[in-house]
Amino acid sequence: ALTAGIVGLPNVGKSTLFNAITNAGAEMANYPFATIDPNVGMVEVPDARLDRIQELIPAKKVVPTTFEFTDIAGIVKGASKGEGLGNKFLENIRQVDAIVHVVRAFDDDNITHVSGKIDPLDDIETINLELGLSDLEAVDKRLAKVQRAAKGSDKAAKAELAVLEKIKPVLEAGKSVRTIDFTDDEKPIVKGLFLLTSKPVLYVANIAEDDMADPENSKYFKPIQDYAAKEGAEAIAVAAEAEEEIAQLDDDEKADFLEAEGVKEPGLNRLIRASYHLLGLQTFFTAGGKETRAWTFKKGTKAPQAAGIIHSDFERGFIRAEVMAFEDLDKYQTQSAVKEAGKLRLEGKDYVMNDGDIVEFRFNV
Ligand code: GDP
Repeated sequence: ALTAGIVGLPNVGKSTLFNAITNAGAEMANYPFATIDPNVGMVEVPDARLDRIQELIPAKKVVPTTFEFTDIAGIVKGASKGEGLGNKFLENIRQVDAIVHVVRAFDDDNITHVSGKIDPLDDIETINLELGLSDLEAVDKRLAKVQRAAKGSDKAAKAELAVLEKIKPVLEAGKSVRTIDFTDDEKPIVKGLFLLTSKPVLYVANIAEDDMADPENSKYFKPIQDYAAKEGAEAIAVAAEAEEEIAQLDDDEKADFLEAEGVKEPGLNRLIRASYHLLGLQTFFTAGGKETRAWTFKKGTKAPQAAGIIHSDFERGFIRAEVMAFEDLDKYQTQSAVKEAGKLRLEGKDYVMNDGDIVEFRFNV
């Protein structure tokens, strides 16, 4: 399963946020085969479409889809030249598919900041620099190998060499690989290098509770947003401590708390959705049986593989998929009305799934 790793300097609120994630916790009974790893927090993806489907095609049970956050603890500064903990830190980041980078954006004299001052951009660069140094080392190693091979007639080596030579000066300038525009031919080569600064990133400003209703008010948030925009990344603001409290409340208390804070939904929901998109994940639904259920697939997945997410038999015996868009069910309200309107489609094995598809798979057993 794809996972987003939570990183950040010490004392910025990572654990607080991770606690909020695990407290908000998925209804584990729905996921009997889930592995229990203390560093992994499984969350349900909030999706209002699921409730609407359940309203129109009621089932006994509603099961949201889930995905995982990984808590990447560990030191940061000097990690790229460090042994032990430093290497472990970088290795853990290498394992995740996207990075959720938490930045301290609140004042509190009681909580020590590792560098003695609250300076979000400086913090971000401290981490990105470590990741970049590690990438530079990897690029240099690779260059030494590829240069030799590229002298001959090895086309692949020549192509890789060109990519490495494009990357190296950017890293040397202290910038992340994700700031580089690659051609479609270069992209798979870059992917194969598994560089840390090429992973998609979401910057999370941990703002003061007072700024929750209007994050733009936080003097720290805007610079983080601007920095992210320059990388083509996204930034969101959450108040980790408040989120940790909210995650422990029951639904009624939660509604009261949110109203008192002047916000519509927990910041955690925004974090979950943003991370889901960051990972390139989308959702399809099944309905009309025992349960109304959301399923996660990677953007670009074809129908048989999507069927395989439910059960491997569905993929093996795949015949076709009966598909309607959520918007059409929402509009026409019943499956037969959708059909009468000519919006119920039969799709074959080459069909690329869309976010929001409501699907019934036909298969041979
Ligand atoms: P980590 O080292 O990044 O995991 O940081 P922690 O989550 O342990 O947080 C460090 C300290 O900052 C703890 O005492 C938290 O209670 C506190 N903290 C975390 N988030 C906030 C926040 O939004 N506001 C304030 N005032 N304190 C926070």
